[in-house]
Amino acid sequence: MQLLSFAELLTVWEENWRRPPLWQGLALLAAACPEETTESLMQEPLGRFNARLWTFRLWCFGSPLTAVTDCLGCGEKVEVTLDVASLCAGAEAQSAVEWQEIATDAGAVRFRLPALSDLLAAGEAASFEEATQRLIQRCVEPSSALSGDVLAILSTKMEEADPLALLELHGQCPQCGQAWMGFLDAASFVWGELRTWAERTLQEVHLLARAYGWREQEILALSPTRRQAYLRMIYG
Ligand SMILES: [Zn+2]
Repeated sequence: MQLLSFAELLTVWEENWRRPPLWQGLALLAAACPEETTESLMQEPLGRFNARLWTFRLWCFGSPLTAVTDCLGCGEKVEVTLDVASLCAGAEAQSAVEWQEIATDAGAVRFRLPALSDLLAAGEAASFEEATQRLIQRCVEPSSALSGDVLAILSTKMEEADPLALLELHGQCPQCGQAWMGFLDAASFVWGELRTWAERTLQEVHLLARAYGWREQEILALSPTRRQAYLRMIYG
């Protein structure tokens, strides 16, 4: 994985801003990992894909990561700060998608961790129920006539084996003390930051181009420090 230039980041944003979050995350990683094919990235367990996105985000936007949510008790904004580097420690070494087996009353059931390709296929379903069904069909054998208990065990096993697949956040509102929990989706979060960055960067390019007559390419080649210094000279 490598860092992208400002111009490359803007191109990824421009070419993918209308796509669903998982595809946006995939496009970002595909650009940052030219040594790997998109197909191989799609075969990674979701947790490893997420860990790479978090790491890429760390390189681009730095640590810490701050997420904001609304308190269900009082409606106040609650901020939570995460240490992404320690979250992702060890995720690179995570094993690939392999089948595992559990014993149930109805016989052995095999399952594997959902990879990005499974999630993308499920994402094309018309409803949440259909999406769940597609995931089960792809990742569980046999995939029909599974009891609720077996599905619950499978779900727990998958969460344990791939903790970064869905980041669960817990906290307490400093205003009213209400406990809260939420989920942080790597692709949506990182893309949201990229979008904010892209919009701000284009605004800065616009201001500098208008003031100095420089071309977009020239302005993007400036370091952020130098770009800000020129902006301060224009707007004091
Ligand atoms: Zn509150």
